[in-house]
Formats: sequence, structure tokens, C-alpha cells
Amino acid sequence: MISRFFKNKALITSTLLFTNSTPTLYKYYSSTNILNTNNNNSNMNTNQKVEKVVIIGSGPAGHTAGIYAGRARLEPLMFEGFMAGGVAAGGQLTTTTEIENFPGFPDPISGLELMEKMRKQNVECGTRIETKTIQKVDLSSRPFKIYVEDELETPILASTVIIATGATARRMGVPGEEQYWSKGISACAVCDGALPIYRNKHLVVVGAGDTACEEATFLTHFASKVTMLVRSTNMRASKAMQERVKNNPKIEIVWNTVLTAAKGTEKSLTHLTIKNVVDDKVSDIEAQGLFYAIGHIPNTAFLDGQLKLDETGYIIAQPYSTKTSIEGVFACGDVQDKIYRQAITAAGTGCMAALEAERFLAH
Ligand SMILES: Cc1cc2nc3c(=O)[nH]c(=O)nc-3n(C[C@H](O)[C@H](O)[C@H](O)COP(=O)(O)OP(=O)(O)OC[C@H]3O[C@@H](n4cnc5c(N)ncnc54)[C@H](O)[C@@H]3O)c2cc1C
Repeated sequence: MISRFFKNKALITSTLLFTNSTPTLYKYYSSTNILNTNNNNSNMNTNQKVEKVVIIGSGPAGHTAGIYAGRARLEPLMFEGFMAGGVAAGGQLTTTTEIENFPGFPDPISGLELMEKMRKQNVECGTRIETKTIQKVDLSSRPFKIYVEDELETPILASTVIIATGATARRMGVPGEEQYWSKGISACAVCDGALPIYRNKHLVVVGAGDTACEEATFLTHFASKVTMLVRSTNMRASKAMQERVKNNPKIEIVWNTVLTAAKGTEKSLTHLTIKNVVDDKVSDIEAQGLFYAIGHIPNTAFLDGQLKLDETGYIIAQPYSTKTSIEGVFACGDVQDKIYRQAITAAGTGCMAALEAERFLAH
């Protein structure tokens, strides 16, 4: 009933836009083809349709942007990627088991199921989804050109672009990693640390930056003990963070040590093999949980430097906004957030991106 009300309301809004619109508004809100007058690029068909909103990426940020843009009758087109950045369509949550902190799901829901629900809702709101990866973009003039891999001859044209390509957690690729991923190994302590499999267990964190210290401290709320493996005799973390972990009685720091393998039973992780880099001594330690805190790689290579990025490759969005360095291009989710990195914050900025794209198109 409620959804029918909203559908009707959206229809009325869109009709009004069509009847009262100025030529500029019509250009953006119409789904018919438009002529491009200021672009000489030979691979552009002048009668080609210009999409109002193209969303690149399909995690919580992209799907939320799609839901909002779809309900605003912007007929969004989403490219959900095909193993882009090494992650399946649906994003990082598809690599984990139970989600306990997404509002609205009092019982744990699997990451895969949550993303399937978001995708379904997005499609029902009118988003067209293509399981293809975007190889490159040309943001030098509007309409923007978006090149789908294997179809580079004819770019997709778009009035606005929402980039929601996320980030990929760095992994070490040690033997056993694949087998125990999500069954004892994770790249997100804040997300997974409270899960039953890690409670009152010995947990190991790999990394020596601020994030590693934060994650180790966070894990002490649940673990019986936390060990940090640090490759050298120094930590990259700030002095304050180092002090915090050094003074925590539940945290042990093992210096000059690297992880070389993860071992266990068929079902669960039980041991880690570690190596001292000074004397090459190899040993096994008991551990029921392993958390990587060795950074993320934002999926921004396909932008080829056309948007302002920070020194680690994240898109710089304006404060309290998803606007990027190019008008009409918006960024949401982990691709522009290296602080919070949560599904709910990604979804929140996805909503912001769609609202900002809608406002941009209307003016
Ligand atoms: C192991 C693990 C467990 C986690 N658990 C939780 C949890 O319990 N709760 C929580 O809130 N958060 C959790 N997180 C964090 C959460 O998954 C992320 O914050 C969230 O998924 C970010 O959403 P996003 O939409 O920005 O991008 P992502 O989820 O990273 O999705 C981006 C998508 O875009 C696609 N893509 C990339 N490049 C292209 C391209 N060129 N063309 C087309 N598509 C492209 C990618 O393939 C990917 O599917 C976890 C993360 C990890 C790694």
C-alpha cells in the first residue's frame, strides 16, 4: 500500500517535470536521445542516448544510490562489475559471513543475503543493472563517457556519474588464507570481532599502523588475548596509539615477525606459522582468529587520475558532500572513506550521492 502510494507520487512528480520543464530540464530528465553539440570525438554517435545517472560499483553505497535515484525517476544505469578489484558484484560484504550491525536485521544476516536484498530493492526501484566492469572513463566534458570492458568502441554517455567502486582489503596470500577466510580470518575487526567464533579466543592482528592498533584494542573487548605481529622493531602508528597498545595488558606485541601460513581443521583456524625475520626461526602459535590490518586499495585506477585523489588513491569528496573535483561526478562509500569503512556509512553516502545528482540535474 505504502509503496503504491510512493510509486504514484513519483509518477506525478515525473509527469510534472515533463510538462513544465524548460529545455535544459527536459534534456536531463528525458530518457530520449539528445544531441551533443560540443564534442568532436569520433566514437560518439550524435543520436546516442545520454543516461541521466550512471552508477559504477555495487556495494551498499551503489545500491543505495540506485534506490534513491530510481525512486526519483532518474532511471539509473548501474554497472555492478564482474570481479572488479577481485571482489564479486555486491562488494566486500559478499566476502564475509554474518552481519550483526546493519540496522533492521536484529538476527544476523549473511553478507551475501543482505547484498541480494539490496540488489532486489534497487531493481524494483527502477535501476537497470549490468554485470560489467568499467575499464575507463572520460570526464573531460559533459556528457561524460564511460567505457565498458570489451565494448570500448561505443562509450556510454552520462549527465552524471556516481562512483561507488569501494576498496579492496589487502591480503597476504599465505597458504591457508583462502581456506579460512571468513572462518577465522578477516580484514575487519570492527565488523567481525564480536562474532561468536572469536569470543574469548586468542586473536592475532597483522599490521603496525594506527588501524592495526585500533583493531587490536577493539578486539580486547572480546578476545582472551590479542597478539600483534610487527615486521620490524618499529610501528608506523602514532605515538599515542602505540602507547595505548603497549599499555594494554591483553595485548602482546611480537616484533620482527611475519606470518607465513594459517593452519587448522577442516572447519576452523587453530594455528598460525610465524617467522622471525632476524634469525629466520619458524614457529607455530595457537590462534583462533587472524585479522589483517595492512590497508585497503581503493578501486580508483580506472579513473586514470581525472579526479582529485589523496596520496593513497582515495577520491577526495567535499566535506559533508559527495561532490568530487569535477561537477556532476559524485563519489560515495569506501572509495572516498578510509575512516569509517562500514556498510551503513557507505549506504548513507550512497543516499547523499543520489540526492546531490538529482539536484545537479535539476539546476
Ligand atoms: C571481511 C569483511 C567483513 C566486513 N563486515 C562488515 C560488517 O559486518 N558490517 C559492516 O558494516 N561492514 C562490514 N565490512 C565493511 C563493508 O563491507 C564496507 O564498508 C562496504 O561494503 C563498503 O561498501 P561500498 O559500496 O563502498 O563498496 P564495496 O562493498 O567495496 O563494493 C564495491 C563494488 O564495486 C565493484 N567495482 C569496483 N570497481 C569497479 C569497476 N571499475 N566497474 C564496476 N564495478 C566495480 C566491486 O567489484 C564491488 O563489488 C566488512 C568488510 C570486510 C572486508
